[in-house]
Amino acid sequence: MFTTVNILGVTVASLTMQEAVQTAGHFIEGNSKAMIATANAEMIMRAAHDEKLKEILNKADLVVPDGAGTVWASNYLGVSMPERVAGFDLVQNLLKMAPEKNWRIFFFGSAPGVAEKAKAKAEQDYPGINIVGTRNGFFTDADTAAIINRINDTAPHMLLAALGVPKQEKWLYANLGKLNCPLSIGVGGTLDVMAGVMKRAPLWMQKAKLEWLFRGIMQPQRAGRLLALPKFVGAVHLWKKHHNQ
Ligand code: UDP
Repeated sequence: MFTTVNILGVTVASLTMQEAVQTAGHFIEGNSKAMIATANAEMIMRAAHDEKLKEILNKADLVVPDGAGTVWASNYLGVSMPERVAGFDLVQNLLKMAPEKNWRIFFFGSAPGVAEKAKAKAEQDYPGINIVGTRNGFFTDADTAAIINRINDTAPHMLLAALGVPKQEKWLYANLGKLNCPLSIGVGGTLDVMAGVMKRAPLWMQKAKLEWLFRGIMQPQRAGRLLALPKFVGAVHLWKKHHNQ
């Protein structure tokens, strides 16, 4: 379908935003039970040390290149990557199409109240959109069956799971068979940004490929995350050497 690139053992698609949106639309209309993951450098680094996450990403129906690090790694490994497909932007593009397509959407994840705020924002930005349900992302295993029932009762076309990496990927993968939903996407902090709880980097920083720096500054409790990018660059250098790509 698309050229793919193997980055530290994770297969990532080389595609444009438009192709990603089209593919997501096909999943929804095709009535499959598909899963999309959005792989930034941090997720790929994590998968390199977490076999289960790696397996899930490699079995996902589509893994898009979210982040400047992923695009750099792909080009460095010899597979030209047309552009970055940020999860947040992919979601906004799909939400924009939803009213016309009559897609029903469920927002699952983030702190109590956030998904409802994100829903209100979506209703304002995309008139006619049908966000059929919300559920916060804090729960125990014992709650999972009830959450699945709640999601299935609303018969969504698209489920956005914002539980953080790797919780969202692991939860979706484990429950995909039970979810009556053609497309599920792990969307990280997307609902936080839509709700205005978290800020996205200003456009100039996104363009300068500095979104990772912005996140590190905005979440100083996670300054350690700033090291993820240089570590990733080092790991990709080694990977290229050993795999002769
Ligand atoms: N989150 C959640 N349940 C959890 C842990 C996190 O719903 O058990 C939410 C959190 O509130 C945030 C989102 O997951 O809205 C993304 O979290 P984080 O910043 O840790 O994600 P990452 O950047 O690792 O994807």
